[in-house]
Amino acid sequence: MDTETTYRVAVDLDACDGVFACLVRDDRFVEADGGLVGFDPADAAGPVERTADEVAATFSDGRVDEARTAAAACPLDAIAVEERDAADRRGGDA
Ligand code: SF4
Repeated sequence: MDTETTYRVAVDLDACDGVFACLVRDDRFVEADGGLVGFDPADAAGPVERTADEVAATFSDGRVDEARTAAAACPLDAIAVEERDAADRRGGDA
């Protein structure tokens, strides 16, 4: 029904401790260089955004529940899932 739902998943790398509880809940999370977490670019709807303190990716694959399960499982509460609707996305095109 809501396959158009786009959502951004962000990991606070200052909080992340590489426990990898997220990886076993959602296979879009991967181990990245440095022993912390990242995303497989092949899964994302756009480029994986990485800064010194955050890694984030946007998805529109109907798997937001899995992302929320991973976020709930993170013992350090480092994962944020933010839904964006299709209208926001169109309005945001530059
Ligand atoms: S579960 Fe949380 S702390 Fe562990 S790797 Fe994933 S984001 Fe980092």
